[in-house]
Amino acid sequence: METQLSDRINSLSESQTLAMERLSRELKAQGKNVISLSIGEPDFDTPDFIKNAAKKAIDDNYTHYTPVPGYLELRQAISKKFKRDNNLDYSPEQIVVSTGAKHALTNLALTILNPEDEVLILSPYWVSYHDMVKIAEAKPVLINSTIETDFKVTPQQIEQAITPKTRMLWFSSPCNPSGSVYSKDELFEIAKLIAKHPRIIIVADEIYEHINFLDKHQSIAQFDFIKEQVVTVNGVSKGFAMTGWRIGFIGAPKWIATACTKMQGQFTSGTCSIAQKAAQAALEADPECIIPMQEAFRKRRDLVLKLMSEIPGLILNEPKGAFYVFPNISSFFGKSDGETKINNADDLAMFLLNKGLIAMVSGNAFGNPECLRLSYAASDSVLIEAIKRMKETLALLK
Ligand code: PMP
Ligand code: GLU
Repeated sequence: METQLSDRINSLSESQTLAMERLSRELKAQGKNVISLSIGEPDFDTPDFIKNAAKKAIDDNYTHYTPVPGYLELRQAISKKFKRDNNLDYSPEQIVVSTGAKHALTNLALTILNPEDEVLILSPYWVSYHDMVKIAEAKPVLINSTIETDFKVTPQQIEQAITPKTRMLWFSSPCNPSGSVYSKDELFEIAKLIAKHPRIIIVADEIYEHINFLDKHQSIAQFDFIKEQVVTVNGVSKGFAMTGWRIGFIGAPKWIATACTKMQGQFTSGTCSIAQKAAQAALEADPECIIPMQEAFRKRRDLVLKLMSEIPGLILNEPKGAFYVFPNISSFFGKSDGETKINNADDLAMFLLNKGLIAMVSGNAFGNPECLRLSYAASDSVLIEAIKRMKETLALLK
């Protein structure tokens, strides 16, 4: 039998976030008491008023195929949300609803990129950006930053990376994995630079908009002179604790929204009817309804930073949003517990999993081989126990 797969799939890596989650599930199935802080997913349940909207959608027979870009009522709700929360004008024709922001991003890669195009990715970056670009046979170009600059990239670095082949620039703010947030001034400087290159499309991933401990969320599309070059990506997974419902969306120039709809029409069709009605309820609600979750994340951030700052050898930045910490752990490289030598972040992630029964993700997955990512979307008691294990396990390394 011929079992040869395509070059495309052979060139892809398994998502490292999902791989660590799979490994911890396997260890749990063997009876091991693993604490998993690997996957970035709110531990809260979806609020009741959203669940009730979904139940009503079933009773009201929202059970048929949906329009490819999403129900008009949902796109109207998203259009209002963009105006209300971000002061952005996107008409319903400029909005496409997809099966999660992940799908929205994949649509963009497949719709805009040709083979050999280059995509600037501000690094550290969310794990899947790299492979989404590769699926489109384009070339990811990482622009690195370190903890010294709070994991933020400067416009000068971006300028140096631009070539005639540069077609897109992707970033998330608040950032997964570093929690860094680009300020309005920093976004303005990036926008000014990219405006000089009308061929470049910016993908602004704002999925952590509501988990921002600074002040108001800032969108790069707010600057009128760049808006035609920006796609704003968002969704309900993180802010509304709706990861399993799989609803993400874009606000984009009309030509891009039309193209993504065409792509989606051949791939998936319109996404789930019931989840769309649930997302509509979420987005039409007063954003105050999620303040308790935001407050819980802020307290957990503070707790985790305090506990982790007591672990010798970790260097930490202060995340300003999202729900991750991304410590530099390079001081452990070259050390050993007498059995296992730690050569890199992958080794340390596996050591913490096997010896300490705590799952985190190697920074390699996010473009930074000196860091580890911990998701603090877990209860205080789980976080306290996890960091205690981390401290004890790291202390074994001499
Ligand atoms: N962007 C970022 C930065 C993320 O962390 C995630 C989380 N998986 C996504 C996009 C995708 O979100 P979803 O597909 O659940 O909407
Ligand atoms: N965004 C989450 C994470 O980074 C979910 C996992 C994924 O889809 O990769 O862990």
